Amino acid sequence: MSDQNPLFIPGPTNIPDRLRHAMNVQTRDHRAPDFVDTLLPILEDTKKVFGSTTAKIILFPASGTGGWEAAIANTLSPGDRVLIARYGMFSHKWIDMCQRFGLVPEIVDVAWGAGAPADTFESILSADKGHKIKAVLVTHNETATGVKSDIAAVRAAMDAAGHPALMMVDAVSSLASMPFEMDRWGVDIVISGSQKGFMLSTGMAICAVSPKALNAMETAKLPRTFFSFKDMLTTNATGGFPYTPPLNLICGMRESLKMLFEEGLDNVYARHTRLATGVRKAVGAWGMELVAQSPDLYSDTVSAIYVPKGFDSDLLTNHIYNAYGVSFGVGLGQMKGRAFRIGHLGMLTDVMVLSGLATVEMAMADLGYPVKLGSGVAAAQEHFRTSRAQSMAAAA
Ligand SMILES: *Cc1c(COP(=O)(O)O)cnc(C)c1O
Repeated sequence: MSDQNPLFIPGPTNIPDRLRHAMNVQTRDHRAPDFVDTLLPILEDTKKVFGSTTAKIILFPASGTGGWEAAIANTLSPGDRVLIARYGMFSHKWIDMCQRFGLVPEIVDVAWGAGAPADTFESILSADKGHKIKAVLVTHNETATGVKSDIAAVRAAMDAAGHPALMMVDAVSSLASMPFEMDRWGVDIVISGSQKGFMLSTGMAICAVSPKALNAMETAKLPRTFFSFKDMLTTNATGGFPYTPPLNLICGMRESLKMLFEEGLDNVYARHTRLATGVRKAVGAWGMELVAQSPDLYSDTVSAIYVPKGFDSDLLTNHIYNAYGVSFGVGLGQMKGRAFRIGHLGMLTDVMVLSGLATVEMAMADLGYPVKLGSGVAAAQEHFRTSRAQSMAAAA
């Protein structure tokens, strides 16, 4: 059996060998005087990926979900209103968490396939004269639908309403793969995780916290212990941790940042755009539709694709897994059975994506889909060839 692991789920992603080696470390004393020399430069460099110079970076041993919890538990109080739109499984789960914490979410339901509705947010915030809404929560990249929301537009809506709420953004499946401008977009807390754009094992929630959010922490009353920003910042300042840190992931983070900076963040983003565009060309050639409703919403890290009427997307992803040993994303929530997902983030190349598209085509042909073998692959090949030729010409 092949130990190659081409994985086309939208996270966790393939782990480059270089990062697997970097995470293979012997135990170190995290209270030793030189631990500070390891930790602090990593926190400093991580800010560049968030597009911030003023945020504090906080690393928790947790998955991305722990980052959601940290964001609300540190800055809000029981009964606080939060504004959030639901347009997929991940925004839905964040709403559920808010309710379990005794917050009162003002939920804007929009179609799965649409993004954060900045205009609706603006009217709701304008009507909230007493500023009862304490935070606006946005999922930047809804991994269930392959939709990217416009964070700058949400900021503009908040500013137009003159509303002082905090803005919290889930960037778990976009950060380090798609541009993020925390400072420019005025985001107060950004949440990410180790296993997506950073290409590491799962197990570290990565949060960036603005000075305004740190200020809110002083009066916020939700209880927090393990996820206390304050405990973390106090100990980090001297290079320590409030408990035993996930050393393997911290060492992996050092190497991941090195890889991202060597390639150059702009090149990383351009590669994801090229891969995503190739996938979208293939979807078009198959005569199928994306769940994302319009090109401005297309995600560069994941594409959710409706299967034709009469077909079940779960049977497709199961068949690909059983017959060809490759994983694709299943349809989540409302999309179960109706759409499958191609994850195209992390350590992927044109060639890997072509192999994934070829595999989907074989499985579709096996199951009687009206798809011609090679049609999607050819469309993606054409895109990869021409975009490569164009970028070489531009560099010459
Ligand atoms: C993966 C993901 C998460 C976090 O999931 P975990 O399994 O807890 O790491 C949160 N939001 C989005 C949009 C995601 O894609």
